Amino acid sequence: MKALRFYAPEDVRLEDVEEPTCGPAEVKLRVRNCSTCGTDVKILHNGHQNLTPPRTIGHEIAGEVVEVGSEVNATYGADWKVGDRAQVIAAVPCGECHECRKGWMAVCQNQTSVGYQYDGGFAEYMIVPTQVLKVDGLNRIPDNVGFDEASAAEPFACAINAQELLGIEEGDTVVVFGAGPIGCMHIRIARGVHKAGAVYLVDVNADRLKMSADAVQPEETINGAEVDVVERVMELTGGRGADVVITATAANVTQEQAIAMAARNGRISFFGGLPKTDPTITCDSNVVHYRQLHIHGANGSAPEHNKRALEYISTGQVPVKDLITEHIPLERALDAFGIVQRGEAIKVTVEP
Ligand SMILES: [Zn+2]
Ligand SMILES: [Zn+2]
Repeated sequence: MKALRFYAPEDVRLEDVEEPTCGPAEVKLRVRNCSTCGTDVKILHNGHQNLTPPRTIGHEIAGEVVEVGSEVNATYGADWKVGDRAQVIAAVPCGECHECRKGWMAVCQNQTSVGYQYDGGFAEYMIVPTQVLKVDGLNRIPDNVGFDEASAAEPFACAINAQELLGIEEGDTVVVFGAGPIGCMHIRIARGVHKAGAVYLVDVNADRLKMSADAVQPEETINGAEVDVVERVMELTGGRGADVVITATAANVTQEQAIAMAARNGRISFFGGLPKTDPTITCDSNVVHYRQLHIHGANGSAPEHNKRALEYISTGQVPVKDLITEHIPLERALDAFGIVQRGEAIKVTVEP
């Protein structure tokens, strides 16, 4: 079968490899969609410390069950059958550490990842490892949800995890930095699930800002390359500031701007990580103190968030179909990475 394998930074190859075999405690999938995100581009250029090469990459996965290991259903109390449609979690918690037992699976200290320690979804077939099945990380796709939509459940789950911590209330003003697919999803979740009020979308790439705004229709877009973002948000909120600010970008300055534009009792999510070589920001601590700000981190998602994402897609509360703007065959997966890197599409999905 064909698989996209990482060997080293700038050395990712589409290869013919042997079709994987399914162990007694594993499930084998025919991958139908594996979507791409900024992380794939980062891996292509820089690799990743947890990624052991050669490795089939791809972590936003949906497919069809083609084989169920003999012990799976009895061991995990499951009912998987050949032909079932399924979505796979990407971040795999251990289920046993202090954090997992507290229910904080997104910050499991022994977390492993599909496409890092286990072969991922840029391949015709993949094995769902026992570690995923153990934490109930293989999810049934509702009948009315397509494989392409289901593959977006993983990044969607990360956004759900972040917003759960923010306590968004009905009518809250929300600012989202970053007009990528995840920024679009944040806007839809804030409105569709949490009943947010006015939403403002910020980016420095005018084309991407327009493309995403056409899809999710924020009350206003703000081009950070042209205007003073903090000043504009203050104007738009009558000087009060934003109740909620989400930084879905790796730009340090957005975190500083988030603190400067937050309203009293404002809630901030540092959703996007910063570059490893430059991870510090300047924070006026007194602003945080006197304005009583709440600053949250966000690290991936738990298996339960993936289930909820599939449910929100199925009920129509948070549609994702129109955010998937490119469908690309596995043979052209590297082109897909280029499209993501240049911000030419909202979401790009690969179809092996
Ligand atoms: Zn991703
Ligand atoms: Zn754990």
